[in-house]
Amino acid sequence: MSRIERIYFASSNGHKKAEMERLIKSGIEIVLPSSFEVEEGGDSFLSNALIKARALYDIVKAPVLADDSGLVVDALGGRPGIHTARYGCTPGHKLTSQEQYSLLLKEMEGQSARSARFVSACVLMLSPERIFIAQETVEGRIAHEARGSHGFGYDPIFLVGDGELSMAELSDSQKDSLSHRGRAMRRLNAVIEEIESEEE
Ligand code: IMP
Repeated sequence: MSRIERIYFASSNGHKKAEMERLIKSGIEIVLPSSFEVEEGGDSFLSNALIKARALYDIVKAPVLADDSGLVVDALGGRPGIHTARYGCTPGHKLTSQEQYSLLLKEMEGQSARSARFVSACVLMLSPERIFIAQETVEGRIAHEARGSHGFGYDPIFLVGDGELSMAELSDSQKDSLSHRGRAMRRLNAVIEEIESEEE
């Protein structure tokens, strides 16, 4: 395989696309399909990422990247976990991100054990037989109130590490340097570089 110039991203989430554009090895264009919906029926982040990657590969027949991610809260037995995107939603009623993290704050009321982590499973599918994966985390705690306006999703209620700053109070480059997705993508970038140099 020669140099990878373009990778289709199995997502309809513009925020994730913006992060991937910053995180992918420089020179590679990230392309979002015009519409992308797939039933995430897997029982882990990794199986859902593979489901997304395969579904998009079947359509574009070109290199595909997929990310399945979410928030794992220890006091909630690992919830919302793989159901983070659907947390609090019912079939006829979707919640906004703000409604979702407010609901999570409510569920955590009175809870002193607040450890949590973001997880990102990233899958790079170059062909149905050539698949590379990296799953990473960032540790932190669930805040008592939302803070910050950067990022997306649950960032305002996730305090990074042992500190007091929420993920939404970090700049893009600060988030990228320590986020679950940043960590996973640096591993996949190393794989991409290795593959390109082997095949030159
Ligand atoms: P997915 O798009 O099916 O993988 O769902 C990911 C869910 O986790 C969505 O609800 C996102 O808002 C949330 N999520 C994933 N990564 C992040 C992040 O970096 N910050 C905040 N929320 C995130």
